[in-house]
Amino acid sequence: MFDHIAQPISYQHIELPSSVHLDIKRLDLVHPQISGNKFFKLKYNLLAAKQQGLSNILTFGGAYSNHIAATAYAAHIFGLNSIGIIRGEELTNKPLNPTLEKAQNLGMQLHFVSRNEYRLRDDEKFLQQLIQQFPETYIIPEGGTNKLAVQGCQEILSQSDLEKYDVICCAVGTGGTISGLIEKSSTHQKVLGFSALKGDFLQQEIRQWTKKQNWSLTDAYCCGGYAKTSPELFAFIKGFEAQYAVPLEPIYTGKMMFGLSDLIKNNYFPVGTRILAIHSGGLQADIRNKTDQ
Ligand SMILES: *Cc1c(COP(=O)(O)O)cnc(C)c1O
Repeated sequence: MFDHIAQPISYQHIELPSSVHLDIKRLDLVHPQISGNKFFKLKYNLLAAKQQGLSNILTFGGAYSNHIAATAYAAHIFGLNSIGIIRGEELTNKPLNPTLEKAQNLGMQLHFVSRNEYRLRDDEKFLQQLIQQFPETYIIPEGGTNKLAVQGCQEILSQSDLEKYDVICCAVGTGGTISGLIEKSSTHQKVLGFSALKGDFLQQEIRQWTKKQNWSLTDAYCCGGYAKTSPELFAFIKGFEAQYAVPLEPIYTGKMMFGLSDLIKNNYFPVGTRILAIHSGGLQADIRNKTDQ
């Protein structure tokens, strides 16, 4: 699968009426299907599954999950079977949405479970049951974050990124991607995360993966919670896409750029700060106007 990756990853300079320098690293262009950060999160997990001689990859997600879509595709081209445990029993007999239909066409076995059962997704006993039900299985947690995912996400940054930029920005969901960026970053750099959801618990998650302290996280631009939006967010995304021809979505990258633009406008960064924003992809399905993520 690694032959499909566009190397080197392209950068896009964003011309701003301000005294900071902003480039976007376009991980969304890395691969048409396994777009963005999900590729980096999966890479060492799939290699580990192969090394352990396991033939199935099992993971968890909601009906519109980018992680489900990416896992189905990556497992397929890697010659592994995939199993998706999908939240929401009520979806069992409904027509599949485009995300799930594509996953199924790539060979993913879909298993719909109730919201109560889905809550057990990190429970050791529940995972053992799943392994009995699906032998020879390598389990990847919801959102794909684990130690090997953090290792893979370190490869998002190149050596020259460590030298050229003062600040690195990314969108944050489960915290795996930002943890990899922090681990790789140089200590004079600051990594700034824009949370897609509300709450302080994510700080704890990130501390689980990295002991470094050159980072901070804000949920000020999450519009109140995961997959929540606002007219201002949509207006911003529309304006940004029209002006710079960079596609954004409202769950992750839209909120990051919305927040970053606001900070820049309010002179949060000193004059001359060189900023790299990571475009983490997420454009696999048209998730606009959908609420059940
Ligand atoms: C999954 C995803 C994220 C979140 O990554 P984490 O490692 O879970 O924090 C960010 N951006 C996009 C586009 C995503 O699909």
